Amino acid sequence: MAAEVKDAREEREVWSAYLVQHGLKRSEQREAILEVFLRTENHLSVEDLLQLVQKRRPDVGRTTVYRTLKLLSAAGLARELHLDGETRFERDWNREHHDHFICRACGDIFEFKSDEIEKLQEEIAERIGFAIDGHRHHIYGLCRRCQAKAAASRR
Ligand SMILES: [Zn+2]
Ligand SMILES: [Zn+2]
Repeated sequence: MAAEVKDAREEREVWSAYLVQHGLKRSEQREAILEVFLRTENHLSVEDLLQLVQKRRPDVGRTTVYRTLKLLSAAGLARELHLDGETRFERDWNREHHDHFICRACGDIFEFKSDEIEKLQEEIAERIGFAIDGHRHHIYGLCRRCQAKAAASRR
């Protein structure tokens, strides 16, 4: 996908600029983490990303992954999600706003976007004179697979 390559190039530029701006050195470990992160389309916990990175670089530790994700968030490349006591990160550069359904059993995350919901909340905010500067909908429940599993085990 050509669009994806282009996006990643922009993300690398943003990252380089961020490092320069904050007087941070480019490190091989951080670059490896960035490359793996840019290739994912998921909502990753620190542990998830650590496992992926360690396939290529076993010398990278959890703290480095965590700190790099924090830097990526500060640079606007990652978004931190606080889900049910767990922190996950997703790519955020040039991504459209979206919300999440989260399965409590298997942890699967489904993204959704609804223009109607967005419009409705703006209307409600206007009615009560509220200035919205951001929102996140995390909707919890069971995915189709886990519902089927639960139903089967009840039999
Ligand atoms: Zn599930
Ligand atoms: Zn998402």
